[in-house]
Amino acid sequence: MAMKSKVLIVGGTGYLGKRLVKASLAQGHETYVLHRNEIGVDIEKVQMLLSFKQQGAHLVAGSFNDHGSLVNAVKLVDVVICAISGVHIRSHQILLQLKLVDAIKEAGNLKRFLPSEFGTDPARMENAMEPGRVTFDDKMVVRRAIEEAGIPFTYVSANCFAGYFLGGLCQPGFILPSREHVCLHGDGNQKAIYVDEDDIATYSIKSIDDPRTLNKTVYIRPPKNILSQREVVQIWEKLIGKELRKSSISDQEFLAIMKEQDYAEQVGLTHYYHVCYEGCLTNFEIGDGAEEASTLYPEVQYTTVEEYMKRYL
Ligand code: NDP
Repeated sequence: MAMKSKVLIVGGTGYLGKRLVKASLAQGHETYVLHRNEIGVDIEKVQMLLSFKQQGAHLVAGSFNDHGSLVNAVKLVDVVICAISGVHIRSHQILLQLKLVDAIKEAGNLKRFLPSEFGTDPARMENAMEPGRVTFDDKMVVRRAIEEAGIPFTYVSANCFAGYFLGGLCQPGFILPSREHVCLHGDGNQKAIYVDEDDIATYSIKSIDDPRTLNKTVYIRPPKNILSQREVVQIWEKLIGKELRKSSISDQEFLAIMKEQDYAEQVGLTHYYHVCYEGCLTNFEIGDGAEEASTLYPEVQYTTVEEYMKRYL
């Protein structure tokens, strides 16, 4: 059997990053996690890194301000997965990855790079609205740098993180489901795709040694999790044994409210608009040059929306 690749996770203490570390270890990869000098005395991060070490990961000291340290870290492994922040209401550092791309180019040994994507496919968002298009534009800048450098890649388009979208019944600004009321986007019938963050990590790690995903985009579309907001609400109503009161917000009202928010909020709301009103995640077929994760890896028992939502009971 082929050797499993050695993996470096960058951004390993993050919301998705910590799940990538766990999945990499669980799938038997020798796993390295970048320990950035800048985290200093952030006790939560340091404790998390130590817990990774206890679980068998190697910690590698490095910094985005120290090119040589990144090159040395990359030279230790076959695959780099970056999960650096890209949500404006938390932090958005997507372009810092250009430094990582430079380091990977210089190291010259990498078999695969998975940049921090894990959302809507930015290549399909050339007509996205301001200001949220910055996320897609920045991710495309990183893609171009990767491809110009000839670095082998896989782009993971993970659709909606379940924690944000299911937790809030698809309403921006909410991450716990109400037992009383929900506001629907228009008629609430536009389909989106919800994926448990641990499953995103599992599928991402599965893809790294797979020749079928080399230089391709992998969309994660678990068939049972392609649902409209109304269908998500119905699942929740069944779980709590009660119907919610429903109101609705039109696309024009949504956009008007969006314009009154601060910049970071507007970026997030733009993304919700494209997903919930335009159906940008489901309005295309997966074509040549791309793959679908649950088809490639049918052995993964992914978490269904209903299973995921039970945690909120
Ligand atoms: P986080 O906000 O949790 O941050 C991840 C890590 O980024 C941090 O733990 C840190 O890593 C690193 N980081 C943050 N700031 C800096 C900095 N200044 N310099 C260097 N490293 C820094 O990220 P998420 O997990 O929320 O996002 C990861 C990816 O997932 C992004 O591409 C994002 O766009 C996408 N995403 C998609 C969603 C969806 O619904 N599809 C929802 C949320 C995110 P460390 O300290 O360990 O080095």
